[in-house]
Order: sequence, then structure tokens, then C-alpha cells
Amino acid sequence: MQAIYSIYYSSLISQLFHYFCQMSNRLDILAFEEWCNQGRQPLIISGPCSAETEEQVMKTARAIEALGQVQVFRAGVWKPRTRPNSFEGKGEEALLWLKKVKQETKLKTAVEVANPKHVEMALKHEVDILWLGARTVVNPFSVQEISDSLKGVDIPVMVKNPLNPDISLWIGALERINQAGINKLIAIHRGFDFFKKSIYRNAPMWEIPIELKRRIPKLPIIVDPSHISGKRELLFDVAQKALDLDMNGLMIESHICPEEAYTDASQQITPTKLGAMLESLVVRSQKGTYDFQHKLEELRSEIDKLDAELIEILAQRFHIIDEIGEYKHHNNIAIYQVKRWSNILMNRLENGEELGIGKDFLLKVLQLVHKESIQRQSQIYYSDQKDSL
Ligand code: PEP
Ligand code: MN
Repeated sequence: MQAIYSIYYSSLISQLFHYFCQMSNRLDILAFEEWCNQGRQPLIISGPCSAETEEQVMKTARAIEALGQVQVFRAGVWKPRTRPNSFEGKGEEALLWLKKVKQETKLKTAVEVANPKHVEMALKHEVDILWLGARTVVNPFSVQEISDSLKGVDIPVMVKNPLNPDISLWIGALERINQAGINKLIAIHRGFDFFKKSIYRNAPMWEIPIELKRRIPKLPIIVDPSHISGKRELLFDVAQKALDLDMNGLMIESHICPEEAYTDASQQITPTKLGAMLESLVVRSQKGTYDFQHKLEELRSEIDKLDAELIEILAQRFHIIDEIGEYKHHNNIAIYQVKRWSNILMNRLENGEELGIGKDFLLKVLQLVHKESIQRQSQIYYSDQKDSL
């Protein structure tokens, strides 16, 4: 009887926890180490953008396996293309090739799914890991449909960021998949489609995955340097940056003959080049020796002190700004004084340059402080008007 009660209570507690996670938008997920046996080594996923032929898939997979550095073989089976009448993937036929990869190599397999039919077929052919692509994640209806089709299934799911730099949409998609009961979740950072011209195909905007890690520390993040870069030459730097930021792995497109790839030809590399690249990447350790840690703590406490002083000085500055505001108002003087502002800018930027502070950065800080000052003084003028109504 007691055993029944304890089962009942533990299932009740787990249900309540699940419910709490749903309500508070927290993800009820397993820590990466609990299900992915990589230690501090990054998880490496590689394979062609698209599965094109059995020969291309098998040759690429065998060459990747031979490197001994890759754990998961990726291949697009259904390809979301911008224009119609392009190569849209081989569909179910390609899943048979992936099954052969599983049988003949030690690699696990991963494919992109964009609807419940894809999920059903991928599961039928025993794909190990599913992922949602950037074009699917922009649409909550599609993500919800996929989530519904995953209820009761125990499989790792990776969720790429949406095309647009919207962290809430990305988290929303992760939550939807999590609510289906999927607790082996990974986020993939593949960059953002951004209107500003840049050397990247998709702007990395590292602040977004960094913020995602801050909000959900348990969530592993894998970086996809291929779709960020858009070209082979940039892959190494993006991959190294990902490791420097302590991301949990890399997804890099690799093709036995990249120039002839049906899709994303300019960003794919041969397995041989992939091996060389992985060899030269440096995995940073998060914790150093005792001495290192000690010195780091010392420096950090100096930073804490300086930040406190910075905030104190800002508060003092705003206090004087308020006083000036009262005084100007009393004497019926306009808030914004162009000449004074130009002088401040020139003088402070010169000052900053002498101290080695970048002009662009300091300009942004000064503009922000000035904007806040104007706002505070306007409030003084405005509240007085309200009183006299
Ligand atoms: C892909 O991984 O091949 C792909 C289509 O990626 P994304 O969804 O990031 O564009
Ligand atoms: Mn691709």
C-alpha cells in the first residue's frame, strides 16, 4: 500500500513540476551530460546539406566516421527551398540510406522535420535525432503540429533559431516541443537573416545565443557555422568563436564533393578538410587551475567595485541634471542646448580616445546618457504643467 502511495506521490510531484514549468515558461529538460556522453568535449554533427544519392551519402558518412571526431551524421531529406522547382530533397528514399549509415557506421543520424508526416516517416526509419529548421520555427502553428505529433515519443530534438532575431519565438518553439514531453532538447544557433549587409550569410548576433544561455542555463546550444558563414573560408573562425563562448557543439555541413552539391555548395567542405579543421580548433576549459581561478576572482572583484562606482557616478550626474532642469525651468530656458551638447561630445570623445576607448562605443554611451538627461528634465517641465492644470 505504502509503495502505491509513494508511486502516486512521485508521479503527482512530477506532474506538478511539469505544470509549474509550463506556467513559468521554464523548460523541463535533462542536463546535456545526463543523456549525451560527451563530457566537456563539444558534440560534433556533420554531413551533407542534402542527401542526394545513396553513393554520396554512404561515401560521405564513411569518410566522416573515419575521422573519429564526429558523433552524428546529418542530412537534409526534405529541403525547404526559397524558390519552387529547385531540388527539394529525396524524401523517404533518403531515409533508407540514412538507415544504412546507422547500420554500417557508428554514427547516429539526424534529419530536419517540417511537419507531422516527416516526423512519422523519420521515426518509422529509426532516425536518432530530429531537428526543426529556421523556416519552420518562425511559424508557431507548424511547431505546434510537430509538437503534437511527438507526444509520447522519446527522441532528442534540436530547434534552430527562427530566421528573424526574435529570442522569444525561439524559446516559444523550444517550449512547444518540451510540452510534448521531449526532455532531450538542444538549441541550434544558425544565425539570423538580417537586412544589414555583412560578410556572413546569416548574421551571428552572438548576443542572442548568449542571452538564451543566460535565461536557460541547462539548455545545450550547438552552433551551425555553415549556415552562419555561407562560405567555406569563414567556417573556422565562426566555429572557434562558438567554442570560445562555451557552446556545446558544432553542426558543420560536409560533402564528399562540395562543388557538385545540389544545395549550399559554397559552404560545404570535404570530410578531409573537416578533419583538419576539427584538429585545429581549440576547446577551452571553463575552469582553470587554482591560481588562475584565484586571480580571476581578484580581477572580478575589482570589476564589481568599479561597476558600483560607475553606477554611483551616474546617479550623481543625474542628480545634478535634475538640479539644472529645475533651474532652467525656473528661468524659462529651453531644455535642449545644441551648443553645449556639441561641446560635450567633442570634448568627451577626444578624452576617451586618449584613454583608448573606441569612438563608436563612447558615442553610443554619451547619446544614451544625454537622452536620459533630456527625458528627466522634460519630466520636470511636464509635471509642473500638470500641476498647473
Ligand atoms: C540545413 O540545415 O540544411 C538548413 C536548411 O538549415 P536552416 O534551417 O538553418 O536554414
Ligand atoms: Mn544547408
